[in-house]
Amino acid sequence: MKSFYLIFVGFIGLSVGSFINAFTWRYYLKNITDLRHFFKKPVDKKDLSIVSGRSMCPNCQHKLAYFDLIPLLSWTLLKGKCRYCHSRISIQYPLVEIFSAAVSVVYLLFWPSISNTRQLMSFILIILIVYGLISLLVFDFKWYILPSNIIYFLFFLGIFYVTLNISKINIASLILSTIIGGGLFYFLHIFSSGKWIGGGDVRLGFLLGFILGNFSLAIMLIFLASLIGSVFSILLISLRRVSIKSSIPFGPFLIISFMIVQLFGKTILIWAKNHYLIV
Ligand SMILES: [Zn+2]
Repeated sequence: MKSFYLIFVGFIGLSVGSFINAFTWRYYLKNITDLRHFFKKPVDKKDLSIVSGRSMCPNCQHKLAYFDLIPLLSWTLLKGKCRYCHSRISIQYPLVEIFSAAVSVVYLLFWPSISNTRQLMSFILIILIVYGLISLLVFDFKWYILPSNIIYFLFFLGIFYVTLNISKINIASLILSTIIGGGLFYFLHIFSSGKWIGGGDVRLGFLLGFILGNFSLAIMLIFLASLIGSVFSILLISLRRVSIKSSIPFGPFLIISFMIVQLFGKTILIWAKNHYLIV
Protein backbone atom coordinates (compact mmCIF):
# COMPACT_ATOMS: atom_id res chain seq x y z
CA MET A 1 0.00 0.00 0.00
CA LYS A 2 2.81 2.37 0.91
CA SER A 3 4.32 2.06 -2.58
CA PHE A 4 0.96 3.08 -4.08
CA TYR A 5 1.02 6.30 -2.03
CA LEU A 6 4.63 6.94 -3.01
CA ILE A 7 3.83 6.63 -6.72
CA PHE A 8 0.71 8.78 -6.29
CA VAL A 9 2.63 11.51 -4.45
CA GLY A 10 5.40 11.26 -7.06
CA PHE A 11 2.90 11.97 -9.85
CA ILE A 12 1.44 14.89 -7.91
CA GLY A 13 5.00 16.19 -7.49
CA LEU A 14 5.63 15.94 -11.25
CA SER A 15 2.45 17.89 -12.02
CA VAL A 16 3.17 20.51 -9.37
CA GLY A 17 6.68 20.90 -10.81
CA SER A 18 5.12 21.52 -14.21
CA PHE A 19 2.79 24.10 -12.64
CA ILE A 20 5.73 25.78 -10.86
CA ASN A 21 7.54 26.16 -14.21
CA ALA A 22 4.54 27.93 -15.74
CA PHE A 23 3.65 29.88 -12.61
CA THR A 24 7.12 31.37 -11.98
CA TRP A 25 7.48 32.43 -15.62
CA ARG A 26 4.04 34.12 -15.71
CA TYR A 27 4.44 35.71 -12.29
CA TYR A 28 7.78 37.17 -13.40
CA LEU A 29 6.37 38.52 -16.68
CA LYS A 30 3.30 39.95 -14.91
CA ASN A 31 5.46 42.67 -13.39
CA ILE A 32 7.18 43.61 -16.64
CA THR A 33 5.54 46.40 -18.64
CA ASP A 34 7.58 46.14 -21.84
CA LEU A 35 7.34 42.54 -23.05
CA ARG A 36 9.06 43.21 -26.40
CA HIS A 37 12.33 42.07 -24.87
CA PHE A 38 10.82 38.61 -24.24
CA PHE A 39 8.55 38.04 -27.22
CA LYS A 40 8.99 38.62 -30.95
CA LYS A 41 5.28 39.01 -31.66
CA PRO A 42 2.90 41.13 -29.57
CA VAL A 43 1.47 39.13 -26.72
CA ASP A 44 -1.91 39.41 -25.06
CA LYS A 45 -1.45 39.92 -21.31
CA LYS A 46 -4.43 37.58 -20.79
CA ASP A 47 -2.35 34.71 -22.16
CA LEU A 48 0.08 35.27 -19.31
CA SER A 49 -2.58 35.04 -16.61
CA ILE A 50 -1.55 32.61 -13.88
CA VAL A 51 -5.07 31.20 -13.64
CA SER A 52 -6.48 31.23 -17.17
CA GLY A 53 -3.48 31.68 -19.51
CA ARG A 54 -2.72 28.97 -22.07
CA SER A 55 0.85 27.73 -22.18
CA MET A 56 2.84 28.74 -25.25
CA CYS A 57 6.32 28.34 -26.67
CA PRO A 58 8.31 31.44 -25.60
CA ASN A 59 10.09 31.42 -28.99
CA CYS A 60 7.39 30.92 -31.67
CA GLN A 61 4.48 31.70 -29.30
CA HIS A 62 2.53 28.73 -30.65
CA LYS A 63 -0.14 27.70 -28.12
CA LEU A 64 0.71 24.30 -26.68
CA ALA A 65 -1.63 21.33 -26.87
CA TYR A 66 -2.32 19.12 -23.83
CA PHE A 67 0.06 16.46 -25.20
CA ASP A 68 2.88 19.03 -25.20
CA LEU A 69 2.33 19.60 -21.51
CA ILE A 70 2.61 16.11 -20.01
CA PRO A 71 5.25 16.45 -17.29
CA LEU A 72 8.62 14.92 -18.17
CA LEU A 73 7.17 12.79 -20.99
CA SER A 74 6.53 15.61 -23.50
CA TRP A 75 9.98 17.09 -22.99
CA THR A 76 11.64 13.68 -23.36
CA LEU A 77 9.67 12.62 -26.46
CA LEU A 78 10.30 16.00 -28.11
CA LYS A 79 14.00 15.69 -27.17
CA GLY A 80 13.86 19.07 -25.47
CA LYS A 81 12.68 20.94 -28.57
CA CYS A 82 9.49 22.83 -29.43
CA ARG A 83 7.19 20.72 -31.64
CA TYR A 84 6.40 23.74 -33.82
CA CYS A 85 9.60 25.79 -34.21
CA HIS A 86 12.20 23.23 -32.99
CA SER A 87 13.87 25.75 -30.68
CA ARG A 88 15.40 24.38 -27.49
CA ILE A 89 13.22 24.11 -24.40
CA SER A 90 15.19 24.80 -21.24
CA ILE A 91 16.38 21.82 -19.18
CA GLN A 92 14.78 23.72 -16.28
CA TYR A 93 11.39 22.23 -17.20
CA PRO A 94 12.15 18.53 -16.63
CA LEU A 95 14.59 19.31 -13.79
CA VAL A 96 12.01 21.20 -11.72
CA GLU A 97 9.46 18.44 -12.38
CA ILE A 98 11.86 15.68 -11.29
CA PHE A 99 12.96 17.74 -8.29
CA SER A 100 9.45 18.34 -6.97
CA ALA A 101 8.51 14.69 -7.56
CA ALA A 102 11.63 13.54 -5.70
CA VAL A 103 11.06 15.98 -2.83
CA SER A 104 7.43 14.84 -2.49
CA VAL A 105 8.42 11.18 -2.32
CA VAL A 106 11.26 11.81 0.15
CA TYR A 107 8.94 13.89 2.39
CA LEU A 108 6.34 11.12 2.45
CA LEU A 109 9.01 8.48 3.13
CA PHE A 110 10.70 10.32 5.99
CA TRP A 111 7.82 12.27 7.56
CA PRO A 112 7.61 11.03 11.16
CA SER A 113 3.99 9.90 11.22
CA ILE A 114 0.69 10.30 9.36
CA SER A 115 -1.76 8.26 11.42
CA ASN A 116 -4.57 10.67 12.29
CA THR A 117 -6.37 13.65 10.74
CA ARG A 118 -4.25 16.26 12.52
CA GLN A 119 -1.03 14.63 11.32
CA LEU A 120 -2.40 14.31 7.79
CA MET A 121 -3.37 18.01 7.75
CA SER A 122 0.05 18.86 9.09
CA PHE A 123 1.70 16.88 6.29
CA ILE A 124 -0.48 18.49 3.59
CA LEU A 125 0.37 21.96 4.95
CA ILE A 126 4.08 21.23 5.01
CA ILE A 127 4.06 19.80 1.48
CA LEU A 128 2.23 22.95 0.26
CA ILE A 129 4.85 25.09 1.99
CA VAL A 130 7.60 22.98 0.39
CA TYR A 131 6.05 23.48 -3.08
CA GLY A 132 6.00 27.22 -2.39
CA LEU A 133 9.67 27.00 -1.43
CA ILE A 134 10.51 25.18 -4.68
CA SER A 135 8.91 28.06 -6.62
CA LEU A 136 11.03 30.52 -4.58
CA LEU A 137 14.08 28.41 -5.43
CA VAL A 138 13.29 28.79 -9.15
CA PHE A 139 12.71 32.56 -8.79
CA ASP A 140 15.99 33.12 -6.97
CA PHE A 141 18.03 30.80 -9.19
CA LYS A 142 16.73 32.31 -12.44
CA TRP A 143 16.12 35.96 -11.66
CA TYR A 144 17.72 36.62 -8.24
CA ILE A 145 14.38 37.53 -6.71
CA LEU A 146 12.36 36.14 -3.79
CA PRO A 147 8.87 37.64 -4.18
CA SER A 148 7.67 38.95 -0.78
CA ASN A 149 4.02 38.08 -1.48
CA ILE A 150 4.88 34.40 -1.81
CA ILE A 151 6.96 34.47 1.39
CA TYR A 152 4.09 36.15 3.29
CA PHE A 153 1.64 33.58 1.95
CA LEU A 154 3.92 30.77 3.16
CA PHE A 155 4.11 32.51 6.58
CA PHE A 156 0.32 32.38 6.62
CA LEU A 157 0.37 28.61 5.93
CA GLY A 158 3.21 28.29 8.44
CA ILE A 159 1.05 29.81 11.21
CA PHE A 160 -1.55 27.08 10.61
CA TYR A 161 1.15 24.42 10.59
CA VAL A 162 2.69 25.65 13.86
CA THR A 163 -0.76 25.97 15.50
CA LEU A 164 -1.61 22.37 14.58
CA ASN A 165 1.60 21.18 16.21
CA ILE A 166 1.63 23.60 19.13
CA SER A 167 1.46 20.81 21.73
CA LYS A 168 4.85 19.52 20.59
CA ILE A 169 6.48 22.97 20.35
CA ASN A 170 8.44 24.81 23.03
CA ILE A 171 7.42 28.46 22.57
CA ALA A 172 10.79 29.86 23.70
CA SER A 173 12.55 27.56 21.24
CA LEU A 174 10.12 28.63 18.47
CA ILE A 175 10.83 32.34 19.06
CA LEU A 176 14.60 31.73 19.23
CA SER A 177 14.42 29.59 16.07
CA THR A 178 12.69 32.40 14.16
CA ILE A 179 15.20 34.99 15.40
CA ILE A 180 18.17 32.74 14.50
CA GLY A 181 16.68 31.93 11.06
CA GLY A 182 16.55 35.55 9.89
CA GLY A 183 18.44 37.54 12.53
CA LEU A 184 21.99 36.99 11.31
CA PHE A 185 20.95 37.74 7.71
CA TYR A 186 19.09 40.83 8.91
CA PHE A 187 22.24 42.06 10.63
CA LEU A 188 24.39 41.37 7.53
CA HIS A 189 21.75 43.02 5.32
CA ILE A 190 21.69 46.22 7.41
CA PHE A 191 25.48 46.25 7.93
CA SER A 192 26.23 45.94 4.17
CA SER A 193 23.28 48.14 3.07
CA GLY A 194 21.83 45.16 1.22
CA LYS A 195 25.03 44.35 -0.73
CA TRP A 196 25.95 41.01 0.87
CA ILE A 197 22.53 39.65 1.38
CA GLY A 198 19.15 40.73 0.01
CA GLY A 199 16.01 41.56 1.96
CA GLY A 200 14.32 38.50 0.43
CA ASP A 201 16.88 36.21 2.07
CA VAL A 202 16.19 37.86 5.44
CA ARG A 203 12.43 37.25 5.11
CA LEU A 204 13.05 33.70 3.88
CA GLY A 205 15.37 33.03 6.84
CA PHE A 206 12.72 34.20 9.34
CA LEU A 207 10.10 32.02 7.60
CA LEU A 208 12.26 28.88 7.64
CA GLY A 209 13.34 29.41 11.27
CA PHE A 210 9.70 29.83 12.26
CA ILE A 211 8.59 26.63 10.52
CA LEU A 212 11.47 24.58 11.98
CA GLY A 213 10.36 25.85 15.40
CA ASN A 214 13.44 24.52 17.19
CA PHE A 215 16.52 26.63 17.88
CA SER A 216 19.06 23.77 17.49
CA LEU A 217 17.57 23.01 14.06
CA ALA A 218 17.68 26.73 13.15
CA ILE A 219 21.40 26.85 13.97
CA MET A 220 21.90 23.71 11.86
CA LEU A 221 19.98 25.39 9.00
CA ILE A 222 22.23 28.46 8.95
CA PHE A 223 25.37 26.34 9.27
CA LEU A 224 24.37 23.90 6.52
CA ALA A 225 23.18 26.62 4.10
CA SER A 226 26.45 28.53 4.54
CA LEU A 227 28.46 25.32 4.13
CA ILE A 228 26.66 24.18 0.94
CA GLY A 229 26.73 27.77 -0.40
CA SER A 230 30.49 28.09 0.18
CA VAL A 231 31.34 24.68 -1.31
CA PHE A 232 29.19 25.43 -4.35
CA SER A 233 30.70 28.91 -4.83
CA ILE A 234 34.28 27.64 -4.50
CA LEU A 235 33.46 24.90 -7.02
CA LEU A 236 32.01 27.41 -9.51
CA ILE A 237 34.95 29.80 -9.06
CA SER A 238 37.51 27.01 -9.50
CA LEU A 239 35.69 25.84 -12.63
CA ARG A 240 35.80 29.50 -13.76
CA ARG A 241 32.06 29.50 -14.28
CA VAL A 242 31.80 32.65 -12.18
CA SER A 243 34.33 35.22 -10.92
CA ILE A 244 34.98 35.99 -7.27
CA LYS A 245 33.00 39.22 -7.67
CA SER A 246 29.87 37.55 -9.06
CA SER A 247 26.88 37.31 -6.79
CA ILE A 248 25.30 33.89 -6.31
CA PRO A 249 21.72 33.63 -5.06
CA PHE A 250 21.61 32.34 -1.48
CA GLY A 251 17.91 31.39 -1.36
CA PRO A 252 18.33 27.98 -3.05
CA PHE A 253 20.95 26.90 -0.47
CA LEU A 254 18.68 27.97 2.39
CA ILE A 255 15.73 26.09 0.91
CA ILE A 256 17.61 22.85 0.23
CA SER A 257 19.19 22.99 3.71
CA PHE A 258 15.76 23.57 5.22
CA MET A 259 14.46 20.37 3.63
CA ILE A 260 17.46 18.36 4.87
CA VAL A 261 17.25 19.82 8.39
CA GLN A 262 13.48 19.39 8.65
CA LEU A 263 13.59 15.73 7.64
CA PHE A 264 16.91 14.61 9.12
CA GLY A 265 17.95 17.31 11.63
CA LYS A 266 16.65 15.53 14.73
CA THR A 267 18.35 12.25 13.70
CA ILE A 268 21.61 14.15 13.16
CA LEU A 269 21.27 15.78 16.62
CA ILE A 270 20.67 12.39 18.33
CA TRP A 271 23.64 10.90 16.50
CA ALA A 272 25.81 13.84 17.54
CA LYS A 273 24.71 13.54 21.18
CA ASN A 274 25.46 9.79 21.23
CA HIS A 275 28.92 10.47 19.93
CA TYR A 276 29.56 13.12 22.59
CA LEU A 277 29.96 15.88 20.06
CA ILE A 278 27.42 17.91 21.99
CA VAL A 279 27.54 18.01 25.77
ZN1 LIG B 1 8.21 27.09 -30.60
